[in-house]
Amino acid sequence: AKQEGRNRVRFFSAEIEDVLKAHLTMTRQIRAGLEDHEFEVHYQPKLDVRKKIVVGVEALVRWRNQDGQLVSPAYFIPAAEQTGLIIPLGKFVLKQACLDGKKWHQMGYSLRIAVNVSVVQMMEGAFIATLREIVDETQIDPRFIEIEITESILAGDATKAQTILEAIREVGATVAIDDFGTGYSSLTYLKSFPVDVLKIDQSFVRDMMVDRSDAGIVEAIVQMAKSLSLRLVAEGVETRDQADTLLGLGCDIMQGYLFARPMPASQIDEFLTKNND
Ligand code: C2E
Ligand code: CA
Ligand code: CA
Ligand code: CA
Repeated sequence: AKQEGRNRVRFFSAEIEDVLKAHLTMTRQIRAGLEDHEFEVHYQPKLDVRKKIVVGVEALVRWRNQDGQLVSPAYFIPAAEQTGLIIPLGKFVLKQACLDGKKWHQMGYSLRIAVNVSVVQMMEGAFIATLREIVDETQIDPRFIEIEITESILAGDATKAQTILEAIREVGATVAIDDFGTGYSSLTYLKSFPVDVLKIDQSFVRDMMVDRSDAGIVEAIVQMAKSLSLRLVAEGVETRDQADTLLGLGCDIMQGYLFARPMPASQIDEFLTKNND
């Protein structure tokens, strides 16, 4: 048994070493990718399904590797968060989204530009200064910037989180709670935190047609948003049935493959011409 125990220790440390090596490689690759401009920002339209117009877009980062293939953020965002590289990466995304947003505004479309911000990125000391700087540089109307954060912001220092959210509001931008209903769900924060939008998580949208309790959760979120005067966005809408159900519940703003996939900025130009003109 002793022998076995020793082997197990060796086995685990080899595994840990592999994980650390992979982590280091990833860190180097992200850093090099930033230097070599391998990251790009794609956008997924958000539609007012009743009015049939695009009312906003969500910026989603993509990594084009040396082979020209797009790498999913699910693969590199966690590593970027752990290494702190999410800060320069997030700054790049925010700046690019504001540049593209400003262009769409100048073309005459009043779109909200939603940008995902990681908790580590938001809680870092310079976030508000960076946001201000980007608003100044790009001359975007800050009322059209929507910062998407997850409920995990509440797992940490809630007082600090509140201060930062209030500062985002002072800059003029708005705040959306992403993946709403999946995380740390305290209802009192919704009342006291400066939040403007709830995004119903795609898991509820997906399951609401088959599972009564998911349908009930969606109904409850819609009611809650109404009574707290929050805007609502449903994400991950893939079928007409889902869209009709959401409309019936009073949720008009939707995002999902049924309407459009994330796409490069130039394709958004075309999508807007076809849809909103
Ligand atoms: P998220 O913020 O919840 O973004 C929604 C994800 O769902 C996106 O995946 C989007 O492409 C996908 N999606 C949209 N419509 C549908 C649909 O109808 N069906 C299904 N099955 N999926 C749909 P994506 O682009 O792979 O991003 C994954 C996650 O990576 C995001 O989830 C977000 O948490 C993170 N992420 C993406 N870009 C950024 C960024 O710039 N900064 C940070 N911090 N995180 C980001
Ligand atoms: Ca999001
Ligand atoms: Ca989401
Ligand atoms: Ca998500």
